[in-house]
Amino acid sequence: MACATTCWCGESSRCEVLCAVSTSPTPPFTAAARPEGPPGHPRFKSRRRFDTVCWDEATSWAVDLNQGIVRIQGVGNLALSKSARRQLARLANRSGTAVTLTVTQRRSAKSWRACVGFKAVVAAKTNPVEGHDAVVGADGGLTVTAALSDGQLLTMPAFLGEARDLIADLQRQRATKKKGSVTWTALNRRIAEVYRQARCRSDNWARRSAGDIVAAYGVISLEDLKLTNMMASASGTVEHPGTNVAAKQALNRKLAEAALGRLRHWICVKAEEAGRRVWAVPAKNTSRRCAACGHTAPTNRDRPRFACGDCGHTNHADINAAENIAVLGHHCETAWDQAGRPAMPRPKPRLRRRKADNQPALAPTLAA
Ligand SMILES: [Zn+2]
Repeated sequence: MACATTCWCGESSRCEVLCAVSTSPTPPFTAAARPEGPPGHPRFKSRRRFDTVCWDEATSWAVDLNQGIVRIQGVGNLALSKSARRQLARLANRSGTAVTLTVTQRRSAKSWRACVGFKAVVAAKTNPVEGHDAVVGADGGLTVTAALSDGQLLTMPAFLGEARDLIADLQRQRATKKKGSVTWTALNRRIAEVYRQARCRSDNWARRSAGDIVAAYGVISLEDLKLTNMMASASGTVEHPGTNVAAKQALNRKLAEAALGRLRHWICVKAEEAGRRVWAVPAKNTSRRCAACGHTAPTNRDRPRFACGDCGHTNHADINAAENIAVLGHHCETAWDQAGRPAMPRPKPRLRRRKADNQPALAPTLAA
């Protein structure tokens, strides 16, 4: 192949291989990032690029719970907050030994965050208040975060919604400042801090609610929601732009604020600690089926109310759905019993598990 044009390598001819590379749809990434000089050389790395340091062994650092500090050789002492002391003491009391340490500098503030990994922690198994075989169904939604089949409606306060006015105000102030200036940086930190507070508050709510559900019931049945698919963008492509993009964006924002995945994550974590079973049942028609007679029709549901068109049964729509989910959970239990109670899948050790891996067991094949 004769090459007429000048290639990125500087050769104007007889560089067939390189020209083939440069005319391919994806050029080498270094060529794209740095069109001048040859690719592959080390580049400058700012010290801000690194914000984490890890110790994979319990050497050269130690947790001192009496004084409430983490001692790190060559670094100094990091003071622990009251809640961190409490959490570490709880794990240490359950005969856990600290093995790994990760220290991260927070982006939002000038503070540090230390994460201590424990091994051999004895599970704190408790007896559910309602009995080991008591099944509860939970239906997630936007207005009611979780409706339980026993009639409880758990609604998370709009933490991020409350913070949004303050964030908008700070963003307006930031827009008048020079980019990169001291005030601009301080405002950026403040915005990140407000977001972090809202996130921590909703996480805390989810953890406490999950703890309450797990404390009461032996078996928890959840909808098998595909949250990633539900929150897909509607914007489409340049050739085929989507419709109602703004409405879908608003819905996605609401879904993200409702933190359905977070509640589900904490239910799975707490259930595993306490020795409970969590089933993910198919979500199809759970909000349209009558829990009393089984009649399924889209007209049964009139937003917050459920009124069966066949038997006349009425209830809160979310509680009706939760009752249907609980029934499916019962079916899972029966199928699991009939299969000789096989071991529940336990994907990965806690230390190496990411949030996405922490999913409830999928429903076994259900008899219709
Ligand atoms: Zn009915």
